[in-house]
Amino acid sequence: MASGTGEIRALLCAAVSAMEKVVSDPAMGEEVRRMVGAVADLAVQVRVLLAEVERLDVPPGSCSMGWGVCPEHGRTLMTSRGRSHCTVCDASWGYDRENQHCREPAAFRFNLVPICRAHAVSAPFRAQLVPIQQPD
Ligand SMILES: [Zn+2]
Ligand SMILES: [Zn+2]
Repeated sequence: MASGTGEIRALLCAAVSAMEKVVSDPAMGEEVRRMVGAVADLAVQVRVLLAEVERLDVPPGSCSMGWGVCPEHGRTLMTSRGRSHCTVCDASWGYDRENQHCREPAAFRFNLVPICRAHAVSAPFRAQLVPIQQPD
């Protein structure tokens, strides 16, 4: 299952970048303008599907947030050329962590939604956070 999901993810990523390349190509002629609109819509739909695949791929008990954080510092990531790093502690990841579903273990509930410690740090309303009891 995990490798299957990885393959689907790779295919969807390739499809999205191919479509985005077509959409942003200035050499596209007038006659394909309509098609470009359709491709742009399709790219949006594939992105939604990709987010869904990533959501299904996260381990059980993970954070529910659809974007990554530094596990220590929260929303402090910077991403360039497909690599993310934390601007506070300089931890780095060899992939675009910012735009990937969070895989950190959930530690709190925020309006009933399980979220990790780092996302809790960045939450706008900390008073509504309820710690999740972790089995020892
Ligand atoms: Zn950090
Ligand atoms: Zn998280």
